[in-house]
Amino acid sequence: MTNIKERLLESKMTEIEQARIWSPRVISRFETLVRSGDDLSLYRINPLAFARDRAISEAESIDLFLYATRSGLFEMSWDVVCPQSGMVLDSFGALRTLKTHYVCGLCDVSGETDLDDFIEVTFTVSPQLRRLPFHDPDSLSVEDYHWKLRFLSDGRLPGQQVRFLDFLQGLVRGLAFLPPGATTTLRSDLGPGALSGVNVQTQAAFAVPVLGEPAATPTHLRVRYDGQRFSPSVSAVPPGPIVIDVENSGTARGSLLLINWPPEVLAHGQACARLRAVHVWRDVACQTDFPAPVPLGTRR
Ligand SMILES: [Zn+2]
Repeated sequence: MTNIKERLLESKMTEIEQARIWSPRVISRFETLVRSGDDLSLYRINPLAFARDRAISEAESIDLFLYATRSGLFEMSWDVVCPQSGMVLDSFGALRTLKTHYVCGLCDVSGETDLDDFIEVTFTVSPQLRRLPFHDPDSLSVEDYHWKLRFLSDGRLPGQQVRFLDFLQGLVRGLAFLPPGATTTLRSDLGPGALSGVNVQTQAAFAVPVLGEPAATPTHLRVRYDGQRFSPSVSAVPPGPIVIDVENSGTARGSLLLINWPPEVLAHGQACARLRAVHVWRDVACQTDFPAPVPLGTRR
């Protein structure tokens, strides 16, 4: 059951229909999406994927979402996406407010944001038209908060059809929110390689090697989190059962995604997928009604 503001939709759809000449069925396909699409299909829509899935032209699809944004039915965002893991690192309402520096705690990489490799322009239905759980991230389950809110789903392992998310989820050893002023306990079983943890919102992260003889009894690992960084109590842990106490002394809720990287992945040095480059931002930036992009190097 969807909760759509009918009057708003009716009036704005008329506006969009009259904005230009559309190919047959473009408008009806768009309206079907708004009315019948599930919550995730209306969150962070890539207009090129929409065009491909509905057999309409890319230019027309981009136009459609720009008009829908101008009419207030959708909101456009400039997402900074890690080109390796597909994690959405940041989101901005306007290109001119983009930050030039990026950090991905999962891949342990940072550097300067390159528009071609990092930026995805996406569109999300406006909460005024149809409210989604993703409009209120605090309301999401810990699974949706990570996999639906923070990762693009179409990243693939290099040269393979395997989705990066499926690969990554096989390595997850824990997923938790970290309430402020409280200790959260996670239990797991580790194989050799490395244990890393990341807060997908702030990109704060830690990593410890997992090495030595397997432990028969659970290893206890304490990790302090002060809202900005994680500090593990030891510099390495053995394979085997582990109990991890994460103490959040910060004032805000944190989150933790725990990954057990196997040695072959670490040796390969390529834990992540290379996303197909999506250069839709250029098309959008060229639309005269939207702010022109400022060269990244000149921004602070
Ligand atoms: Zn990454």
